[in-house]
Amino acid sequence: MLILGIETSCDETGVALYDTQDGLLAHALFSQIDMHADYGGVVPELASRDHVRKLLPLCDQLLDRANRLRQDIDGIAYTAGPGLVGALMVGGSVAHALGLALGIPVLGVHHMEGHLLAPMLEENPPAFPFVALLVSGGHTQLVKVDGIGVYEMLGESVDDAAGEAFDKAAKMLGLDYPGGPRVAALAEKGTPDRFRFPRPMTDRPGLDFSFSGLKTFTLNTVHAAEKEGDLSDQTRADIALAFESAVVDTLTIKCRRALQQTGCSRLVIAGGVSANRRLRTGLEGMAAKLKGSVFYARPEFCTDNGAMIAYAGAQRLQAGQRDGERIVAVPRWPMNTLPSIDEPRTT
Ligand code: ATP
Ligand code: MG
Ligand code: FE
Repeated sequence: MLILGIETSCDETGVALYDTQDGLLAHALFSQIDMHADYGGVVPELASRDHVRKLLPLCDQLLDRANRLRQDIDGIAYTAGPGLVGALMVGGSVAHALGLALGIPVLGVHHMEGHLLAPMLEENPPAFPFVALLVSGGHTQLVKVDGIGVYEMLGESVDDAAGEAFDKAAKMLGLDYPGGPRVAALAEKGTPDRFRFPRPMTDRPGLDFSFSGLKTFTLNTVHAAEKEGDLSDQTRADIALAFESAVVDTLTIKCRRALQQTGCSRLVIAGGVSANRRLRTGLEGMAAKLKGSVFYARPEFCTDNGAMIAYAGAQRLQAGQRDGERIVAVPRWPMNTLPSIDEPRTT
């Protein structure tokens, strides 16, 4: 089956062609980051309008690149949520219109399931069961994964997501959006242990996270340095390193706990923050001590992309799941309410 995947949940227009036999054929992405930069954040209406402009040309470019025609497509998967409702509607409308015109099945896919399954696109994909750490701009969750759609929520952030914390810390350090990669680059030049940030919620049992305190800690540290007239590039790098180390340590401690609690040896990390090098290294060190292993996607498939949606959709479409006539767009959508791949779908 040749599946077209469409991602439009936020500020990235992503498309991909995934073949259930031959794997990923091609993918293409257009990021709206520059457009939203002037506003200091994603403007939902501008995002929707730009998806309208970019989506079909990007699909044509994708088909050209893979040397395929629209008529070759056997099914379409689009992101149905969670995300910005107007942006989701663009992907859903195009998917349903194309599906109707071509007479092929269409399925709305959960964006976080897409992230979660992205490491399956790599060589040596993880086998079930595993523990997944989802760390993105809007989510920080630990999930026990027994199969596609068999998700047990082990813990999550009670406030900010890890990626959001990176983005906010970046702003305080005078860095642009998206902050994660920029904080990581700045931290490379940091002096270890000049500042020590807290590891929130690690001194009590449980698998929940909290990152809003780290944000306040960062702000206070920046202000204190400013007061002393020492917000030099070196000090900013030292703060970036202290912040990044605190996030990485906190995530690592909770992942170790989740592996021990579930008895799993495999840890999958997904979402934008899983591109972070220090996080990968920290988790790999921890897992090695438990004789376990860590799986992740190539950096471009950690952040939003069409390939993960094509892959997740392909698994479910192949199992016979599909939308009815209605476009599905769900701004808030808990992942543990998804049906397993073997159950008939009700949405
Ligand atoms: P969600 O998937 O929860 O709806 P999203 O789609 O906005 O949110 P992603 O695209 O998965 O999130 O990831 C974007 C986030 O990842 C941003 O917050 C960004 O700062 C962060 N990020 C990207 N690369 C890195 C990195 N190398 N280190 C840390 N954070 C990073
Ligand atoms: Mg994004
Ligand atoms: Fe995402």
